Amino acid sequence: MPEPDHLRITEIFHSLQGESLTVGCPTVFVRLTGCPLRCGYCDTEYAFTGGEWMSLDAILERVATWRTPYVTVTGGEPLAQPACLALLARLCDAGYRVSLETSGARDIAHVDPRVVRVMDLKTPGSGEVDQNLYANLDRLEKHDQLKFVICDRDDYEWAQDMIVRHALPARCEILFSPSYGQQDPAELADWILEDQLPVRFQLQLHKQLWGDVPGR
Ligand code: SF4
Repeated sequence: MPEPDHLRITEIFHSLQGESLTVGCPTVFVRLTGCPLRCGYCDTEYAFTGGEWMSLDAILERVATWRTPYVTVTGGEPLAQPACLALLARLCDAGYRVSLETSGARDIAHVDPRVVRVMDLKTPGSGEVDQNLYANLDRLEKHDQLKFVICDRDDYEWAQDMIVRHALPARCEILFSPSYGQQDPAELADWILEDQLPVRFQLQLHKQLWGDVPGR
């Protein structure tokens, strides 16, 4: 049985933020181990198992070895480990600008309000659309971001429908990412422009720079 102030950690590393509104900013990433989902395009399968138990104090100490105000807690699915909530609060208390990357399949209600929640809404192409916890949409705040990873035209039309049905642009920033190696980025950009969708197109910067390698 793990101690309540411990988390299983796959890696802690320093890189450029590859996605979201702080793209390009030097950021420390804390990647938690484990995820209950199995998206077809997952690029962090190495985080499903393994990892090392670390106390919150040890994680904070490691994060402090780099000089950046930005910290992103990611996975896996970070919220699958209950102590993630305490980690997020501790990082905020320490003065960091903290974001959480979450699949949208876990309740985000108890995440510290200082945290920017970058939440996925899983599309049919992910293979995990049934895992979406739609109640989370009502919990998003203006400073949060909602991300769609688009695998194909069907996903694009599904996302468009969600945007209208849930009035999403009024809730927070909407991000559209082409699934890496699956959806042509230029084609997705053309669709967004043709339909004048109020969304932000993004590419994963870290993959443009370094390819699909862990820890970058
Ligand atoms: S939620 Fe994220 S980590 Fe989990 S399987 Fe999907 S892409 Fe991978």
